Amino acid sequence: MPGTATEPTQDKAEAPDSAPSSAPSSAPSAKGKAAGKDGKPSSAVARLAKMGLRRSVDLVLHLPMRYEDETTLMPISEAIRRAGLGQPAQVEGEVISNEVTFRPRRQLVVKIADDSGELTLRFLNFYGSQTKQMEEGVRLRVRGEVRGGFFGAEMVHPTVRPVVPDEPLPDRLTPVYPATAGISQAYLRKAISGALSRTPMPETLPAAVLQGPLAKLKLRPLGECLRLLHTPPPQESEAALADRSHPAWLRIKFDELLAQQISLRRAHEARREKNAPSMPRHEGGLLTRFLAALPFRLTGAQQRVVGEIAADMTAQHPMHRLLQGDVGSGKTIVAALAACQAIDAGYQAAIMAPTEILAEQHYRKLSAWLEPLGVPVVWLAGSLKAREKRAAVARVESGEARLAIGTHALIQDTVRFARLGLSVVDEQHRFGVAQRLALRGKAAGTEPAPATAAVAPETVPHQLMMSATPIPRTLAMTYYADLDVSVIDELPPGRTPIVTRLVNDERRDEVIERIHHAAAEGRQVYWVCPLIEESEALQLQTAVETYETLVAALPDLRVGLVHGRLPPAEKASVMDDFSANRLQVLVATTVIEVGVDVPNASLMVIEHAERFGLAQLHQLRGRVGRGTAESVCLLMYQAPLSPTARERLATMRETTDGFEIARRDLDIRGPGEFLGARQSGEAMLRFADLNTDAWLVEYAQEAAQLMLTQFPEAVEAHLSRWLGGREHYLKA
Ligand code: ADP
Ligand code: MG
Repeated sequence: MPGTATEPTQDKAEAPDSAPSSAPSSAPSAKGKAAGKDGKPSSAVARLAKMGLRRSVDLVLHLPMRYEDETTLMPISEAIRRAGLGQPAQVEGEVISNEVTFRPRRQLVVKIADDSGELTLRFLNFYGSQTKQMEEGVRLRVRGEVRGGFFGAEMVHPTVRPVVPDEPLPDRLTPVYPATAGISQAYLRKAISGALSRTPMPETLPAAVLQGPLAKLKLRPLGECLRLLHTPPPQESEAALADRSHPAWLRIKFDELLAQQISLRRAHEARREKNAPSMPRHEGGLLTRFLAALPFRLTGAQQRVVGEIAADMTAQHPMHRLLQGDVGSGKTIVAALAACQAIDAGYQAAIMAPTEILAEQHYRKLSAWLEPLGVPVVWLAGSLKAREKRAAVARVESGEARLAIGTHALIQDTVRFARLGLSVVDEQHRFGVAQRLALRGKAAGTEPAPATAAVAPETVPHQLMMSATPIPRTLAMTYYADLDVSVIDELPPGRTPIVTRLVNDERRDEVIERIHHAAAEGRQVYWVCPLIEESEALQLQTAVETYETLVAALPDLRVGLVHGRLPPAEKASVMDDFSANRLQVLVATTVIEVGVDVPNASLMVIEHAERFGLAQLHQLRGRVGRGTAESVCLLMYQAPLSPTARERLATMRETTDGFEIARRDLDIRGPGEFLGARQSGEAMLRFADLNTDAWLVEYAQEAAQLMLTQFPEAVEAHLSRWLGGREHYLKA
């Protein structure tokens, strides 16, 4: 049974030797020496440090992930009777035989017996010391799962401990801690119980807070809760401890959420203390000319969010705003208007998109809009030839290029902006925390601070993030508290709703017939190939095969193929042909998932739709329904469907509302998975679980507010206890 990162490693026979008589000293080791003066092995201390357990208080807050019940013994016959139920049993018996056998491989086989029966213990990996420890006649206390083996009932690799007759059983549940390889449970238990006894945990919540806004929660003192969770008294409900519904857990979760909320607010304040270039709008500038040249009017929702963004950019503090709007709601134009405002004020703007297809589409659209108005726009992506890239970077650096559009290439070290005033991140959920920080880190080149200013506050560009993936309110509150949110809740007029149908894979012929029909009416079609998560190569192969099949089945139509492995130039030319209606059918992998905008396409076919997630299906479907023609999305599936796949497809059929879809997605998947990669706030939550504890967030916010305004010392004490220097994650 190899130990994994989170499962506890087994207590090895040598564990008691290396178990510490002391844990890391209560103050963080100032001299930076891992080995204590008592000569404890530095490796264990270093491993603890790697797990984030540096201070005594870290150990105290390292709480069990589950418990083992070692408080009772079972007669061996009873344990055998329950074999196969998958539940561990604890028995005690005397060793009646002990031998090392070599068939089928070297192993230690020990037999023990009590009054009721005999049991075999089998060890496939063992130390010589273990053989000795389990000599004939020794009394063993053994814990493990009984299975029916080839030679009768046995335990494989049980936990064993020699005991004297009538040695008392523990009267409390035994905690099992999250651990990494090389740290035994015995070591952790000792280290933690030492820390628990020498570390006072004074109350950090002022009485006015506990008895004020939090009165309803009836929070128990933290110290008491910690002791209870580390060493639960026998009468406590094992179930409530295990599923974390026990009142002691409530206190822990609350304190953790409070620390998170406080530090999110702090991050917000820190941002307010930074400078950003103020870029007031003025009449007659680029922005006005651009609006006048637009072939359509902004929707009410677009006007509102443009106003919110404009106000932020007028302020001297950096904007940190998320623009949420369903697919097709028209976010690009809003970004373009913000860019105009920055350019009008004499600054540069940058727009970063997660895929080259999307970035390039933005580039084409925006340069077509803005270059006629005299704005130099530059394109920056990984696929550029070295010489072109150098030229692009030079234009950005000199300040000649006023708007830079591209992929991750924008955030490389070699790219320096002369005067970056606004950075826009499209489809922001596709980027990691570090990448978003990097674009923000491209400092705004402002005039040197006046000599009178002793310490000039840092100047950073305004930041606008855009996403079609709506984040439910509770998540937004905990993950992105330092983020202002604007929502476009209205689609541009003249769109006909997309009709979604589920089609069994076997009715492929009918689907091909529909394609004919759509093409005959001058419409265009996307055909999305199945997602094959296990193998990119296989996915590619499927795409090529699908392409060939469709070419054969639709001899009168022009069919194109686009996938991630295509050289960028070829990719661009296929997309070009599709945009210009030189191709009627585009076979694609999920590279077209985000942002692609070809309004004339009105039929979307998704093969093996059951393999996609809801957010992805919604994004894909959003590629159609962008023009005035009635659009159809056919979700082809292969029966039988799993219950969750069925639920997902039903949701797609029932609604096209992105917020509703996100809400159901949250129901189906839970928030943990919702945001994809672990990011910002989530990294801080070890105990609170937003599936079950979201209701606590509002209390934590209220308490945070009160403490920040009235109890600054309490804030410090609480943060240092819970965070000890992990705050920077919150700033993305
Ligand atoms: P998304 O929010 O998904 O990024 P886009 O910005 O790509 O959406 O816009 C979708 C389509 O709607 C584009 O073709 C865009 O030109 C068009 N559009 C945006 N705003 C309006 C509007 N107010 N009236 C008409 N069409 C609009
Ligand atoms: Mg978009």
